[in-house]
Amino acid sequence: MIIDAHTHILGLAADPAFTAEYGREGSLCIYRAQGKLPSHRMPTEAEYGACGLSHDGFLEIGPSEMIAGHPGFDRIVLLAMSPQFLDGRLIGTVDNLGVTSVPGPPTPEKCNDYIADVQGQHPDTFIGFASVNPNYKGVKAAVAELERAVTELGLQGLKLYPMYQHWSPADPILSFPIFEKAAELDIPVLVHQAGSTRVDARMDFARPALLDDIGRNFPSVRLLIAHCGTPWVEEAMFMCTKHPNFFAELSYHISTVTTEELYRWLLHLEQMFVPLEKVVFGSDYPGFTYDPVHLRDKVLSVNEVARKLDMPEIPQAKLDGILGDNFARIMRLID
Ligand SMILES: [Zn+2]
Repeated sequence: MIIDAHTHILGLAADPAFTAEYGREGSLCIYRAQGKLPSHRMPTEAEYGACGLSHDGFLEIGPSEMIAGHPGFDRIVLLAMSPQFLDGRLIGTVDNLGVTSVPGPPTPEKCNDYIADVQGQHPDTFIGFASVNPNYKGVKAAVAELERAVTELGLQGLKLYPMYQHWSPADPILSFPIFEKAAELDIPVLVHQAGSTRVDARMDFARPALLDDIGRNFPSVRLLIAHCGTPWVEEAMFMCTKHPNFFAELSYHISTVTTEELYRWLLHLEQMFVPLEKVVFGSDYPGFTYDPVHLRDKVLSVNEVARKLDMPEIPQAKLDGILGDNFARIMRLID
C-alpha cells in the first residue's frame, strides 16, 4: 500500500491570491539557495516570473488535481489548517473553488468541514485530518471542535501547527487538553514540530524535544513528527526511539537529501536504534519542489545506491513499510 501522509488541499485564505503568495514566499528559500532569486531583498514580479513562480508554489488545488498528482498511490492524507492570524489576516483551509457543499462564504472556521466534505467525495482514497488552534478561540473551543470534527464529521486524525500559531506543545494549559481529547478519541496526531523559514513562525516552539511531555503524559497517542523534525532530524528520530508511539513523517527532509544521503540516513537510523517502522512517507504536496512520484521513486531507488557502493541493501519490506504500510498500521488499516 502506497500512502502520502502529508498533503494540503484547497485554499489558505478567503482571498485566493493570498494562497499563491503564501506558497511563493514559502518557496523563496529554495530558489534563493539555488541562486535563482536575490537573497538580500524580496524579489520583483519579473524575477519571480523568470523562475516560474508567478503563480506556482502552494497552488489552490481541488480533489481531482490532488488525485492526478498521485498516480500509483492508494491513499492520500489531507491535512486541514486551522484558523490563525498572519499579519492581521485570518488564514486556514478554505474552499474558494466551490468543490465542497459546505454552505456560506469561505472561512477558515470551517476548515474541518471542508476537509471532511472532500474526504467524503473519495472515501477510499482520502484520509482527512482535522486541525484545531487553542490560541484562536481558546483551548475549550479547540477541544470541542476536535470532538465535533471526529465524531460528527468523521475526520480520522489531527494536524497541529504549534510554531505557526504561537503555542508550545509542552504547555499544560494550551496543549495537554487537546492531546487528552485525541487520546480519548483514539486518533493519531501529526504535529508540525520542525522549523519553518517563515519569519512569523516561532522557532522556540518548534523543537521535537518539546513533545517529550506529551509522550510521557499521553503514551497511548500515536504521534507523528512532521518533516522528521527538520532541522532537528536527529532529535526527532531520538524522540521516536524514546517513545513507543512516536513516528516521523518524511516530507521536507526527503527533499533536502540526495538518494545516496537518504540511503545512508536509513542505515544510520538502525545504528541509532530507530526501527525503520518508525518512518512514514509524506510529500507536503503541493507545497514542495518535488512531486510525490519523484519522492516515492527516491525511496525506491536507495538500493541502487547500495549496490553501486557495494553496501548492504535495505530490505524491500522495510521500504514498503516506509512508503505506506507503516502508516496503514498507525491508521489500523492493516495489522
Ligand atoms: Zn505541510
